[in-house]
Amino acid sequence: MTAVVGDDSLASTFSHAARVAESIGRYWAGSSLAAAPLQVYFLVTDRCNLRCRMCGVWTWARAGRIRPEMSTGEVRAFFFRCKSAGIPTLVVSGGEPLLRADIDEILDAASSCFPYVRLQTNGWNLADHARPIVESGVEELWISVDGTNERHDDVRGRNNSFARIEAGIAKVREWKARLGRDRPRLTIQTTVLPESVDSVVGTVRWAASVGASDIGVYRITDIAPDAVRRTDTTLGGVSCAPWGTLQFTSGVGFESEGRPIALRPEALLELRSIERSTGARVHVDPILISPARTRPVVRCVLPWMMMMVAPDGEMTACHGIDALRLGSVREADVEETWNGEAMRDFRARARRGFPVCESCCVPRRTLGDHLKNPENLRRLFVRRAAASGRM
Ligand code: SF4
Ligand code: SF4
Repeated sequence: MTAVVGDDSLASTFSHAARVAESIGRYWAGSSLAAAPLQVYFLVTDRCNLRCRMCGVWTWARAGRIRPEMSTGEVRAFFFRCKSAGIPTLVVSGGEPLLRADIDEILDAASSCFPYVRLQTNGWNLADHARPIVESGVEELWISVDGTNERHDDVRGRNNSFARIEAGIAKVREWKARLGRDRPRLTIQTTVLPESVDSVVGTVRWAASVGASDIGVYRITDIAPDAVRRTDTTLGGVSCAPWGTLQFTSGVGFESEGRPIALRPEALLELRSIERSTGARVHVDPILISPARTRPVVRCVLPWMMMMVAPDGEMTACHGIDALRLGSVREADVEETWNGEAMRDFRARARRGFPVCESCCVPRRTLGDHLKNPENLRRLFVRRAAASGRM
């Protein structure tokens, strides 16, 4: 895979690298004021049509927890304020974003306001949106796949889920060819459960075969109930309500909760061989390589870098602490909310760490990946950098 980086892109790389350095510098200096966010992580909806075993989001409808959604106009206005603030990346996530009736308009607006847009989807409705996704210029299409065929359907709680992903990917490739576009590139994300650890190689091989340029293999986040309780106490009785902890919302757990999961050395060698033979990049969560040697996260720099926004426009803390409301971006200036009193207070507490942070995979899979590998930084921040020919 060849990366083509023009002069503008190089300048952009340096300016974003400088901003990463500034964010980390402020974190280390103990400042509760952050540099402008590097990423907006926007949950466009809480609604979801699947019933995944590792996620509690689908139970929210039943529990009356679905938050109202900003209108198309409000979303567009928010994106323009992000553009003025110079925020380089947007992640469009959910719930399932392709359930929003106005998602095509949202993606169009996103691509005109952010240099890099990633759409995260479960793939169920992908075929229906393939053309507008390609036309919008979204840089990265990110699909969660938890095995092939029945394995995926079983984890996702709905028959035909895997077949619909395959059909959706085929449609996107078809529209890219018809329109002569090289974007979006495809990332496949697979979450390893205790019961699926032996099928990882097959999943990665499939992902490479459908043209994924990046394949992420991550361990399921397994947050102990006690860590949640202790975090709630730290937050003064507010439930932190982390994602990925279905057992707290529906009583459904996994076969071997709490047990370390590791990939066999032979499996790792096979993954490297798939990388070499296909050109796809396979990112393996370090905790899957040597669980005993992976130190838990006690403090996290993400609150200095990522602005997470709920469907109703409320800024929340992060994936592990979803229930805090830290100011609205609905009408306010981005900087005003980002460095408002509630967020500064949260950062001061985040510097000491929260019990749920010890199991949280987010810093491992984002910052660690990007800082260790400059190519990832370029991919994140440089528009149109990867002219790979792969999807
Ligand atoms: S993991 Fe994604 S697709 Fe599955 S229930 Fe949660 S939000 Fe829906
Ligand atoms: S480690 Fe996870 S839970 Fe802790 S602050 Fe970072 S993103 Fe949030």
